[in-house]
Amino acid sequence: MAKRKLSKQQQRRIASHQKSKIKDNQQRDKKIQLDESSTQTARVISHHGRQLYAETENFERIKCKIRQNLGDITCGDYVLVQQSINNVSNNQAEFTSNIESQNVVIAVKERKNLLVKTGFAGAIKPVAANIGQLVIVTSLLPKPNPYLIDRYLIAAENLPAKALIIINKVDLIDDETKKTVKDLSTLYKNIGYRVIASSIKQNIGMEEISDALSNTTSILVGLSGVGKSSIVKAILPKEEIKIGATSESTGEGKHTTTVSALYHLKCDGIIIDSPGVRDFTPNNNNIDEITNGFVDVRQFNGACKFSNCSHQNEPGCAMKQAVADNKLNKQRFKNYLRLVNEFNES
Ligand code: GDP
Ligand code: ZN
Repeated sequence: MAKRKLSKQQQRRIASHQKSKIKDNQQRDKKIQLDESSTQTARVISHHGRQLYAETENFERIKCKIRQNLGDITCGDYVLVQQSINNVSNNQAEFTSNIESQNVVIAVKERKNLLVKTGFAGAIKPVAANIGQLVIVTSLLPKPNPYLIDRYLIAAENLPAKALIIINKVDLIDDETKKTVKDLSTLYKNIGYRVIASSIKQNIGMEEISDALSNTTSILVGLSGVGKSSIVKAILPKEEIKIGATSESTGEGKHTTTVSALYHLKCDGIIIDSPGVRDFTPNNNNIDEITNGFVDVRQFNGACKFSNCSHQNEPGCAMKQAVADNKLNKQRFKNYLRLVNEFNES
């Protein structure tokens, strides 16, 4: 077929069209390159399937897709987010395409620690990452349970993270519970933990709680009804209550207790509140973790006459001796043995 001869005008028009196309492509390439280089670190607030909400270093809340094969991601994780360009539609007839930018999580940064729980059929599920402090909330109603407190303390020691014990609802105190509060405070303070008695109703201990939560990431754990949500609400700056939580369905700021949230306190403190944390009950994986979780008991570990001492009836048991000498609290030692026995029987 003979080549059709193009007029000078046609040739000029084609050349100009090609030039502008090249320019467009160059600009798009430049934009893509720029976007590829613009990775940023963000902290995960909530995570659902292949999508998550995170907070950037500028306190901006962003919605991200997750690149495949990144493994488990949980609230509190620091992730690397990249802006990627997505061609959402390509209209062949008009040679136009709609380009949309999207945040994509491309990596999970190394964790300082990870709180996990054992789910169905022994499956380990991550609950929260990069935790600085476990706040164990107890109250006068429901009554404090030292055995549960000790189990939470094991979780804190093994993360490792600091532990803070709050005894809430002290406005309900009477002659009987006065002794409970005093004994609990003395016991845990003697071991080295900070204990705060508080009341939301009477505004007791709130300053002290705010102070204890500064400069770290905390999670609040404890039985339902002890006052965890009330404490969080009471110590948050007002504006944070409005924007603190992120609804997983819409991504809009919303104060609700059914989704994960990351709250900023006044003194650079952060509280992570998520459904996984709220129903977290600690369980132990091995005897070493149980022993490590009792700061007062563990100092006598290895000091018994028999290296395989079960600390029950053997002579020369350093732990039993410590209890007899009032160097180790009897109740704590009892809880320790109970946990070890329960573990051995399971
Ligand atoms: P959560 O389940 O641990 O989050 O507990 P909530 O914060 O929902 O509180 C449970 C109930 O205890 C609510 O009815 C609160 O009003 C009440 N409550 C919380 N703090 C106090 C307190 O200091 N004193 C009294 N008397 N009640 C409180
Ligand atoms: Zn022993």
